Amino acid sequence: MAQKTVLRKPKGFIDVYKHKPGAEKDRTHYCPGCGHGILHKLIAEALEDYDIVEKTIVISPVGCSVFAYYYFHTGNLQVAHGRAPAVATAVSRANPDSIVISYQGDGDLAAIGGNNILQAANRGENMVVFFVNNAIYGMTGGQMAPTTLEGQKTTTTPYGRDPKTDGYPLQVCEIINQLTAPVFVARTSLHDMPNIRKTRAAVRKGIKNAMDKKGFSFVEVLSMCPSGWKMDAVPAQGWIKENMIPRFPLGTLRDISEDAPAVERPVPEMDPDEVKKILGFEALSDSNLDKNPNAAFKKVALRVAGFGGQGIMSTGIALANVGMEYGYSVSWLPSYGPEMRGGTANCSVKIQADTIGASECTEPNMIIAMNQPSLEKFEKILLPDGVIIYNSTLIDIQPTRRDVKVYSIPITGIADELGDTRFQSMVNVGAFAAVTGMFDPGEIKNLMSSLFAGKPESVIKLNEEAVQRGYNYVKDNFS
Ligand code: SF4
Repeated sequence: MAQKTVLRKPKGFIDVYKHKPGAEKDRTHYCPGCGHGILHKLIAEALEDYDIVEKTIVISPVGCSVFAYYYFHTGNLQVAHGRAPAVATAVSRANPDSIVISYQGDGDLAAIGGNNILQAANRGENMVVFFVNNAIYGMTGGQMAPTTLEGQKTTTTPYGRDPKTDGYPLQVCEIINQLTAPVFVARTSLHDMPNIRKTRAAVRKGIKNAMDKKGFSFVEVLSMCPSGWKMDAVPAQGWIKENMIPRFPLGTLRDISEDAPAVERPVPEMDPDEVKKILGFEALSDSNLDKNPNAAFKKVALRVAGFGGQGIMSTGIALANVGMEYGYSVSWLPSYGPEMRGGTANCSVKIQADTIGASECTEPNMIIAMNQPSLEKFEKILLPDGVIIYNSTLIDIQPTRRDVKVYSIPITGIADELGDTRFQSMVNVGAFAAVTGMFDPGEIKNLMSSLFAGKPESVIKLNEEAVQRGYNYVKDNFS
């Protein structure tokens, strides 16, 4: 029988989530039963149906949806905690023909970003805000949020939220509805199909308002957080119905968008060259730094990965610092995943002569894998002709890639010989210098007192030794 596709990914989504680390490029990072995925899909479908994927910019701040940019096939900005409405204001005013979406959770929007959302709403900025209310801080492990219900147990209210000490749940829709400027304010839920349909309608209404430049639309969506609530997916749906909806009544609180005139504002004048100059990008772009003309690498996009405590972050910081001292453009980006399912710690490091755009290494040309899960996870995203440095003390398998260069180095063993596993990071720095040719071990040693400022001389000496041992191991075994 011929197969018929009845489900497909809307064009509002990137087809393959290539920015997402790891092997599972076809699914989101959200926990099973989480509401984020449903709301993402409703938004992505609307963007496709309205044919505005290309014109839309999604702003996501901190929270479980911090990685919304993995999924939406739109312009994306990931911004500081609570600041999405402020950034969305700038984006909307500078690009008045764009559709601007601010996607925020309750901890983000109602706590640290409480004033940001009120001011943007009060100005009637051209944007639609999707406010995901699950009554808890999900990403950070289930602490009390501004919308946590009276009596609700969280990790910071283990006996239940007590209004005498913790205040009352913030009803953000009702607060926004006190303001004059907003044109559309609604609260919906994702706990069953009829309510998902109503959410779909509200999502479309908000997006349509943004397309018509009607000003500020606010859609609060009650959403399941089974992990934060410590329950299975199905009971979580019932929990919304029984507990959240009585406190956060559903419905449209305001809809004056039909009669509201389009909001037109003067577009700020801006000379991009002047902005480059102010930010110092011009000098960097023109620089042609080439300290080591014979270096095998001119540009490194590196992922360092392993378990916590293996010197992952300190390897990245040390390399970025050394690179900076050399005059390269550098970036260091730690990755603290929001998923509550464990995994490896990792960081991205970029070192190059010209300006760095995105600091995350989605397509690294080098990985340093300190344990087996990291090797298995990150060798898959390594570019062809890239480099794998792996810790042969703890990894007893071989990389599967045949199109890359492999350096098997007993990183932990070398550090242990020096008396402390913590020297692993500087062994890595030495190995990196030998593999890339970008740094000279002697010059790295000259930087030691600034890298380890305040540390005893004996510790600095041992770290110097660790650099040299890592360097020598590569030179002696792979040259
Ligand atoms: S912690 Fe909660 S909100 Fe975050 S992904 Fe998991 S279920 Fe969703």
